[in-house]
Amino acid sequence: MGKIDLHCHSHCSDGELSPGAVVVRAFEQGVSLLALTDHDTVAGVPEAMEAAARLGMTLIPAMELSTLWNGMNIHVVALNIDLDSSVLQKALERQAGARERRGRLIGEKLERQGIAGAYEAALALADRPESLGRTHFAQMLLEAGRVSRLQQAFDKYLGAGKVADVPIPWVTLEEGVGVIREAGGIAVLAHPAQYRMTRTKLRRLIDAFAKAGGQAMEVVSATQSPDIIPWLALTAESFGLMASQGSDFHGSHMPWIELGRFPSLPATCRPVWSSW
Ligand code: AMP
Ligand code: MN
Ligand code: MN
Ligand code: MN
Repeated sequence: MGKIDLHCHSHCSDGELSPGAVVVRAFEQGVSLLALTDHDTVAGVPEAMEAAARLGMTLIPAMELSTLWNGMNIHVVALNIDLDSSVLQKALERQAGARERRGRLIGEKLERQGIAGAYEAALALADRPESLGRTHFAQMLLEAGRVSRLQQAFDKYLGAGKVADVPIPWVTLEEGVGVIREAGGIAVLAHPAQYRMTRTKLRRLIDAFAKAGGQAMEVVSATQSPDIIPWLALTAESFGLMASQGSDFHGSHMPWIELGRFPSLPATCRPVWSSW
C-alpha cells in the first residue's frame, strides 16, 4: 500500500495544476489513495478519476465545502460523495454564485485601496469566475508587489476583518454536514488547528460538528504543526470521530506543501479509510 492523501487542490479551485496533473504528481510521490478536494466544486473529479485509473491509483470523489459556524469560516472535507446527488449539486450552485459575487466585491475593495485592475488580474489566475478564491487575489497582490509573502496578503487585505474582507453567505456547518451526508459522503472537519481557536473553543466546534453528523476530522494535516497531533488524536477519539490525513497541496504558490508528505497518523486512531 502506498501513501494516502485525502486533501488537495487543482486548478478547478485555487490549486495550480490541472486535476490530471495533480494525480500524476501524487503518483510520483508514492500516493496510491487520493482524494481531490477542490473548494466547493467537484468539477475536477471526472478528469482526476480517469488519470487515476490509467495509473492504477484509487481516486475518492470528494471536495472541500466552505461553511459558517458562529461567523467563522470552517472547512469540511466531503469524502466518497455521490457526484449525481441533486441536493449536493444545488448546494454547490449556491456556493458558486456566492463566490462569484464575492470576487467582484473583493475587486472593488482592492480598487479603493489603489490597486487597479485587481479583479481582472485575479480572474486571470482562476479557471472560471465561480472558482475565484482569495488565494488568487493573494497571488495577484504578491505579483503586483503589494505584499512580499502570500500570508501577508491575508494579514493585510483578505483575512477576516481586513480592508478587502467580504463576508460570504456560505452554508452553515450544520447544513453543510447535512448536504454531505445526504450525498452519501463522509464529513471530515478540515485542518482543525488552522482556525486559530483556543482548545476550549476548538472542542466546542468539534462537538457541534459531531452533533451535526460529522464522522471524522483531520488529525494530520501538512498545514498544522505536528505538536498538536496527539491532542487532535485524543479529541477525535473522545468525540467518536474517525481520523483523516492530507497535505492540502495547492501547488508552487505554497511550495512548503507536497502531496503525500506529512507525519503518520497515531496508531490509536481509527482511520477514515478503514470503512472503505
Ligand atoms: P476562499 O475559499 O476563497 O475564501 O479562500 C480560502 C483559501 O485561502 C484557503 O483554502 C487557503 O488556500 C487560502 N488561505 C486562507 N487563509 C490563508 C492564510 N492566512 N494564508 C495563506 N493562505 C490562506
Ligand atoms: Mn485553498
Ligand atoms: Mn481549507
Ligand atoms: Mn484545502
